[in-house]
Amino acid sequence: MALSDWQLHRFFGVFTWEDDPHRRGAIIVAPKWIAENLTRIEPTIPLLTPGGKPIRHITCHKRIASHLLAVFEDLRANNPESLIHTWDGCWVPRHMLWNPAKPLSAHSWGIAFDLNASRFPYGHRLQQDPGMVNAFARFGFEWGGNWRVPDAMHFEAVKILPAPPACHSEGERSPKAADDRGNLASCHPSPPAAPAPQKGRSK
Ligand SMILES: [Zn+2]
Repeated sequence: MALSDWQLHRFFGVFTWEDDPHRRGAIIVAPKWIAENLTRIEPTIPLLTPGGKPIRHITCHKRIASHLLAVFEDLRANNPESLIHTWDGCWVPRHMLWNPAKPLSAHSWGIAFDLNASRFPYGHRLQQDPGMVNAFARFGFEWGGNWRVPDAMHFEAVKILPAPPACHSEGERSPKAADDRGNLASCHPSPPAAPAPQKGRSK
């Protein structure tokens, strides 16, 4: 399940924001937080926008960047990367479902991304490729397709692993999630309390 708002703030930072007057549901995030917390990576597998253009850069939170790159390498090595037909966005500062009445989406922190959105629309219980889902899960990214309201295009960081290559080479397959006392998960976790359930959190 997705991280709670408390965990999002604790692990990925608190930013000030205001609603974007020019785009319903979008928000404008304080530049200071953007400068301190976001980074740009170059995908190492071919990714296309919904319009078919190559993705040159992905803007995401610094704390997930190496894990995202590690998944790309894993996909390239073990799965056909063509399982990802479209990359539909990572850092998109906005409310859930572009609805200003809803809380902020995890996309606002740059820790979530959408894949194959046209084939896996929000609210439909559809199965993305299990091998791909498992690959993302190994690096801490949960698939939204099993949530109470399924969001089958959506993947979100729910476990923060300190060093993807080390974790991977040591065969760790079930690292603990970040706990609610503020300890980040690691490859050698102490037993943490389970995060509070966030049923129905989507987008
Ligand atoms: Zn999403």
